[in-house]
Amino acid sequence: MSAVIIDGKQIAAEVKADVAKKVEGLKAKGITPCLAVILVGDNPASVSYVTGKRKALEEAGMADKSVVLPADTSEEDVLKLIDELNKDKSVHGILVQLPLPKHIDEKKVTNAIIPEKDVDGFHPVNVGKLVTGEKGFLPCTPNGITVLLKKMGVETSGKNVVVVGRSNIVGKPMALLMIRKEFNSTVTICHTGTKNLADYTKNADILIVASGHPATVTGDMIKEGACVIDVGVNRIPDSTKKSGFRLVGDVDFEGAKEKASFITPVPGGVGPMTIAMLIYNTLESAENRIIKN
Ligand code: NAP
Repeated sequence: MSAVIIDGKQIAAEVKADVAKKVEGLKAKGITPCLAVILVGDNPASVSYVTGKRKALEEAGMADKSVVLPADTSEEDVLKLIDELNKDKSVHGILVQLPLPKHIDEKKVTNAIIPEKDVDGFHPVNVGKLVTGEKGFLPCTPNGITVLLKKMGVETSGKNVVVVGRSNIVGKPMALLMIRKEFNSTVTICHTGTKNLADYTKNADILIVASGHPATVTGDMIKEGACVIDVGVNRIPDSTKKSGFRLVGDVDFEGAKEKASFITPVPGGVGPMTIAMLIYNTLESAENRIIKN
């Protein structure tokens, strides 16, 4: 079997086009959805992610109040900026690009964003709402994965979903989404304490891998016909590339595609969806403001 390659770029373009249409409608009512991305320092991967997010904002016709700060900015100054953006009525979403420099407490900073503008869905109030099923902002990467599954027509109800990774931004929220009635999956979460990872991955109808290491999952660890979602983004040295590196996921793509029914590529799979869901959440925040007023 050779898997259907899930075109995350195309599906993200569809989501973004839909958002852009709705932005036009809001603009006609005098509201321009606006996101502020805060970048501290010049970590190359972070710069590239922020550039992608800002490009998507522009393409969707949204306003951009992003701020780039030097790496030695104090925690106090970052908190002060967040306080100003929290109070700024023209701003609907605030996002702090992680990781932050070591001298800044990431939890303190992300928790300082008011839940109503927390379009990343990282604030404990939004995390709590995810757990209880109340309406809040859903974290972009896991939410984007559910959109991929829906658009590809992958059946989730009654299926075994195995999530490799238990981070707060990917693994845990992914598992919480898939156990919702809407998706109705039976979920197993694996991590570095899991013994014999393959015993679990081989049982997955849908295997979602977010371990942060290339080839954590290889073809022999996958059940024939499974749907494989590779969240990983790893830079590995490649002298044939101008940049000196290439991107690979957390799954050995070549081996996995021979066993899977569906698979996401890296790049071009989950990554574009994360950005699409970010602008979707920003639009939703602007719409929520109208409902409130
Ligand atoms: P993270 O915080 O480093 O978490 C990795 C998780 O994987 C941890 O829970 C860890 O277990 C587990 N793990 C690591 N090696 C494992 C192994 N061999 N077997 C089983 N579990 C293992 O990473 P993250 O932030 O969730 O990100 C995961 C990957 O997704 C990274 O490659 C990241 O770049 C990528 N990512 C992509 C997007 C996107 O938009 N495409 C967005 C976010 C993240 P322990 O808890 O026991 O340490």
